[in-house]
Amino acid sequence: MNLSFNIYFIPKDERHSFQSLLDKVTMVRDSYLTKTGSVVFNFYDDLMRQNVIRRAEIEGRMESALKNCEFHLFYQPKYNLHADTIDGSEILVRWFDPKLGNYRTPGEFIPVFEDTGFISKMDRFVFYRACENIAERLSRRETVFPISVNVSRVTASEPDFVEYYTRIKSKFDIKDGFVTIEFTESFAYENNDRLAEMVRELHAAGFLCSIDDFGTGYSSYTSLKMLNMDEIKLDKSFLESGVSHERDMTILRSVISLGRELGIKVTQEGVETKEEFDGLRALGCDVIQGFYFARPMKYSSYTEFVNNNFSPEAKRRQSEGGE
Ligand code: C2E
Ligand code: MG
Ligand code: MG
Repeated sequence: MNLSFNIYFIPKDERHSFQSLLDKVTMVRDSYLTKTGSVVFNFYDDLMRQNVIRRAEIEGRMESALKNCEFHLFYQPKYNLHADTIDGSEILVRWFDPKLGNYRTPGEFIPVFEDTGFISKMDRFVFYRACENIAERLSRRETVFPISVNVSRVTASEPDFVEYYTRIKSKFDIKDGFVTIEFTESFAYENNDRLAEMVRELHAAGFLCSIDDFGTGYSSYTSLKMLNMDEIKLDKSFLESGVSHERDMTILRSVISLGRELGIKVTQEGVETKEEFDGLRALGCDVIQGFYFARPMKYSSYTEFVNNNFSPEAKRRQSEGGE
């Protein structure tokens, strides 16, 4: 049994219809999750109203945004510390909002898309576009590098999730080991058995699997034991107090060596400084991703970045001692 009182104080000079008061307290009720067996008093706050309006605006426009191709793929290159070269890239979505004339970042719209279930349409669109981009580059005989795509818990829970991703991979003739699917740590924790089965199916279809934001949730070690993951991506919070901090270094060092012993690639996210970069190299980390190496960029800038720095042509120029 839960008992909750949802309260709106009517300012002295305000007049309301009964319906508008009811709407306000309903908004209060929907904004709070009541713990089982608790008695709570929730109060109206104007931020709630603004939030409801913002969510309604996003919900009202998401389908047309997909039709009008307003979701753009940004690529963030990763760097392999052993091979000293690019290690592929992670694809991060942005919403180009023509009304704002600017990009909206995922933090703004992904929670709404997850609540409405729309996220699985968007994730499928991102994956389709990414495969299309690879096929296009290959048809022009240009260098391609592996990609990672994020999937939400909602997307991964669709009954035809593995089937769809497998179908699109073969439609564009993407080779095995080229695409990594990033699951969030919380999804991995809550769905250990199901995910273990999914990982087996994805491996059979030639995908690699990764746990994103590792270290932000619970029971990461159980997940590692149960799931045959190819990569763990350590959350930025591992770097928060700097790699020079002794205790953090110790934790980082043991996670990296655990990954190595289990044969799992360890990628550190959010690397911003040379100090962090050097520190991670010294600890034996496999791959880094972060502003220090490259920011997320538009596809056109990414192809330029790859062609200028990592194409066979660029490598030849470098080995001959510069331009
Ligand atoms: P994530 O998958 O952990 O992605 C890494 C986030 O860290 C990205 O934020 C990236 O821009 C940011 N980042 C990269 N390097 C640095 C750095 O050096 N410093 C700092 N402070 N940040 C850095 P972004 O692009 O805002 O994405 C946020 C989250 O949204 C992603 O976290 C991912 O969980 C989700 N997301 C992004 N694209 C998609 C998508 O296509 N589908 C799904 N389901 N989720 C996505
Ligand atoms: Mg990710
Ligand atoms: Mg992450």
